Amino acid sequence: MKFPKNRSNDYSREALKSRIEHLSEQSGHSLDYLGNSAIDPNLTKGNIESIIGFSQVPVGIVGPLKINGEHAKGDFLVPLSTTEGALVASYNRGARAISLSGGANVIITKDQIQRAPYFVLENVFKAKAFADWFSQNFKTLKEVAESTTSHGKLESYRAFIQGKIVYIRLDYSTGDAMGMNMITKATHAMCRYIKDQFPIEKYAIESNMAVDKKPSAINTILGRGKSVTVEALFKERVISRFLRTTAKEIDLAYKRQVTGSQLGGVMGSNGHVANGVAAIFLACGQDMANLSESCVGYVYTEAVENDLYVSVNLPSLIVGTIGGGVSLPTQRECLNIIGCHGKGKAKKFAEIVAATVLAGEISLAASIVAGDFVTAHEKFGRNRPKTKK
Ligand code: NAP
Repeated sequence: MKFPKNRSNDYSREALKSRIEHLSEQSGHSLDYLGNSAIDPNLTKGNIESIIGFSQVPVGIVGPLKINGEHAKGDFLVPLSTTEGALVASYNRGARAISLSGGANVIITKDQIQRAPYFVLENVFKAKAFADWFSQNFKTLKEVAESTTSHGKLESYRAFIQGKIVYIRLDYSTGDAMGMNMITKATHAMCRYIKDQFPIEKYAIESNMAVDKKPSAINTILGRGKSVTVEALFKERVISRFLRTTAKEIDLAYKRQVTGSQLGGVMGSNGHVANGVAAIFLACGQDMANLSESCVGYVYTEAVENDLYVSVNLPSLIVGTIGGGVSLPTQRECLNIIGCHGKGKAKKFAEIVAATVLAGEISLAASIVAGDFVTAHEKFGRNRPKTKK
């Protein structure tokens, strides 16, 4: 069975329609929504192949969320895209608690993304010689890599020797792009240059040590993308009125959950960082596969008399406001809602993501302690199929 392709323009509405008709006939179901979007499929060139339409996921709003960041300052209405009922309501409650407590303070502690080629030498001695050569020639190698991009900068690297193989983990800054295409091209140029200059037996542009799209200890410890840390001091009156519990109860519950995380072998320690990060990523055109490392997060709580200090550390948040999927129509609109589309906005966006994550953490923790975790989901988050009588 041949799948319809359009040689003159595979992104035209006609190409899309012929594939929808084909799939509809083959599946025996009407596909009226997939192929009927106001968005011109031609806009998706560079983002997808064999397009048949657009997934339409609902988008809700959380906020106002008060953020005192170095880049994000003010009250934000944050778009979240999800099909999980109760999620937006929960984050909204957390945002209110943050805002009434003076806002979330946020900083970015590191901003680098990695590619990690490997090089195969003859033996361990040659491997060591290559690592030394790499160090001595780093300035030139940096120039070669950076010749392919005007925004990518090769800032540093770490070498790891395993027998005759040298793994080089390269750290780039990439402006407002998440940067993986940009640094892959840069690293490719560098690897080819090395092959001409040093007698290596083999190389590959990626060893899997970057580590892209996998949760890993190295990303968690050294950081990947934006390392962001956010804090808020929740006031006693806010905790009792909006979260219906106490600082001490939440603090204790979190400490018990840290132990639960350790018992379960969780990477990171948090309630549901993934919910907020996934919903913002989906709304704002981020690469969803980078959720793997972006959702690793650590929560710290401390009862300060009757107030509650909470911080969240996201060591490997992978975001961009230029490139990838951020300029598709709805994705651009969602970024525009928070003033984060385009040049000079990536750090601001990362700070907003972190503050939103904090809103979700405090709300979930409170709902578990106060006992409304189940009732909230029953009220907002059920969509049982209708049963026929
Ligand atoms: P991109 O869409 O491939 O390229 C964006 C380009 O925008 C940059 O290369 C840069 O050009 C230019 N640019 C203009 N103004 C900029 C600014 N202010 N800051 C930064 N760049 C600016 O984006 P990308 O971030 O490199 O790659 C993201 C895509 O890579 C995503 O779609 C993701 O899914 C995909 N990805 C690729 C790989 C891979 O291995 N290739 C792995 C994972 C994900 P110059 O370089 O000329 O400066």
